[in-house]
Amino acid sequence: MKQLDAIIIGGGVIGSSIAYHMSARGMNVILLERDRLGSQASNAAAGMLAAQAEMTEVGPMFDLARASRALFPKLATDLRELTGIDIGLKRKGLLRVAVTEADVTEIQRTLAFQKTVGEQAEWLSLEQVKQREPGISSDLLGAMLVEEDGQVDAPELCLAFAKAAAALGAQIKEFTEVKSLIYAHGRMTGVVTSEGTVHADQVIIASGTWSGPLLEQAGLTCPIYPVKGECFSVLSHTPLLQSTIFSHGCYLVPKKGGRLVVGATATAHSYDRKVTLKGISKLLESAKQLLPGIVETEWERAWSGLRPQTLDGLPYLGEHPSLKGLYVAAGHYRNGILLSPMTGKLVADWAEGKTEKVLSLEAFRVDRHQNVPNERAGVLL
Ligand SMILES: Cc1cc2nc3c(=O)[nH]c(=O)nc-3n(C[C@H](O)[C@H](O)[C@H](O)COP(=O)(O)OP(=O)(O)OC[C@H]3O[C@@H](n4cnc5c(N)ncnc54)[C@H](O)[C@@H]3O)c2cc1C
Repeated sequence: MKQLDAIIIGGGVIGSSIAYHMSARGMNVILLERDRLGSQASNAAAGMLAAQAEMTEVGPMFDLARASRALFPKLATDLRELTGIDIGLKRKGLLRVAVTEADVTEIQRTLAFQKTVGEQAEWLSLEQVKQREPGISSDLLGAMLVEEDGQVDAPELCLAFAKAAAALGAQIKEFTEVKSLIYAHGRMTGVVTSEGTVHADQVIIASGTWSGPLLEQAGLTCPIYPVKGECFSVLSHTPLLQSTIFSHGCYLVPKKGGRLVVGATATAHSYDRKVTLKGISKLLESAKQLLPGIVETEWERAWSGLRPQTLDGLPYLGEHPSLKGLYVAAGHYRNGILLSPMTGKLVADWAEGKTEKVLSLEAFRVDRHQNVPNERAGVLL
């Protein structure tokens, strides 16, 4: 059997993207997932590609987000050719709506900084918003329109990455939990799993919220903690919206077949994935404020997931500073779907010994919280 080039731990959208990108470069990889592929955050996501609408300042995250968003059109075609799966890429714009005067001020500030970097975004009056989206509430004060911020179907994206990797030769092993890392003389040599030992000199930790304890084994402190998000979906024969609507209280993401996803609550430090009536009723109240007609729709279902959050809100991306062959790609918080293509590309580059020339990755260094006091990191792990 051909020797493995890399072991990827975690079959969410990040691990699956890495498996796809490495396989596409001819590397022989294995993807290990302790449950089913995409059974955690990646299946819960609404799939917004909010590279501009969610960002509040110019910086490395804004650059990474835009670079990743730009990869989606080609990716959608490539994944469909390899797997037949349609990732549902829609580029019908995102409206960040203003409910209060404070929202107007914040949105105007966001618009100003987008312009400084030459990104397209514009202010729409309520009248203009209603021309695009007649069902929207007349109580809103206007909105920022970002034409480039689209959306995908997150579960399909995760599955398509993994199936495309498999089509290119990757091994996919579900129900296989990585228990510990194996290394010697400053180099990775493999992992111990619930199903036995696997050997490779490159190991990528892409285990979302659960990455911290594995990294602790290698002496690296990357505090990652869960932020539970609850969502629900409704159905209507005629779609209520064309564009994604984004506000402080909730977002509304129109999917194919007249389905509308409403998300999401945020409860930090909760591994409890129960969907609560409190969470859903709060979301429904916010949704009604934006789209009064939602009350006439048919209930579909509710679900939740755990976003992998970090101390500074930025993912950990890079190689362990002293353990050769150990890479981290985790902590993508509320933007993992958006950031998945670029994350996969970066890891594939590092595995080939290439360094990133366009983006500055310093802010994402994996050892930036190495000296965080134990009590702070400990509370969060
Ligand atoms: C409600 C909600 C809405 C969201 N909406 C959006 C959105 O609109 N746009 C966007 O860009 N992002 C969104 N996100 C964020 C996005 O879902 C996450 O950032 C992304 O899914 C993280 O992917 P991941 O692969 O790192 O983690 P996960 O999907 O959690 O995958 C990690 C995987 O690792 C596995 N694992 C853990 N430990 C081990 C081990 N020891 N051995 C083997 N396997 C292991 C787990 O079982 C899991 O499957 C949302 C998240 C939530 C919860």
